[in-house]
Amino acid sequence: MEKSILDIAQLGNPILRTAAKVVQDITDPKISQLIDSLIATAVANNGVGIAAPQVSQSLRLFIVASRPNIRYPHAPTMQPTAMINPKMISHSEEKVKDWEGCLSVPGLRGLVPRYQTIEVEYFTREGILERKVLTDFVARIFQHELDHLDGIVFLDRLESNEDLYSEEEYQKLIWD
Ligand code: ZN
Repeated sequence: MEKSILDIAQLGNPILRTAAKVVQDITDPKISQLIDSLIATAVANNGVGIAAPQVSQSLRLFIVASRPNIRYPHAPTMQPTAMINPKMISHSEEKVKDWEGCLSVPGLRGLVPRYQTIEVEYFTREGILERKVLTDFVARIFQHELDHLDGIVFLDRLESNEDLYSEEEYQKLIWD
């Protein structure tokens, strides 16, 4: 089976506002193919994460693929990781505000408050249950992608519209 670069649903598409369904058969080859295509699609678009509803698949599955790139020059590097039926088990009291963008919300960046440290659980693509503590940028990606599975986008998490920037103004800020 071939992986492919998939079309990304854009803000206004109802799939982005729909709660996704639990993945029943995690090791189904169709799920494996979807994971490979999601990774290819994230890489092709300089994304550090992507959720299945963003490619119009209403399934509780996302990719976390932090690495430095033109959209996120200061991101830590990790192997792209598929997280299936993910859950946040616990979180720190403290939230931190930092920049987010979204492949489904082109041209905009926002300062979004997220928990700094979270404990999460998910199934790997091999069907193994993992429990991990995530911090900072990777914790942020997890929370952003988990929101996609519940029909939430980062715009919904802004404390104020003043925390919303154009991509151009954001690029000026980070390269200064
Ligand atoms: Zn997103």
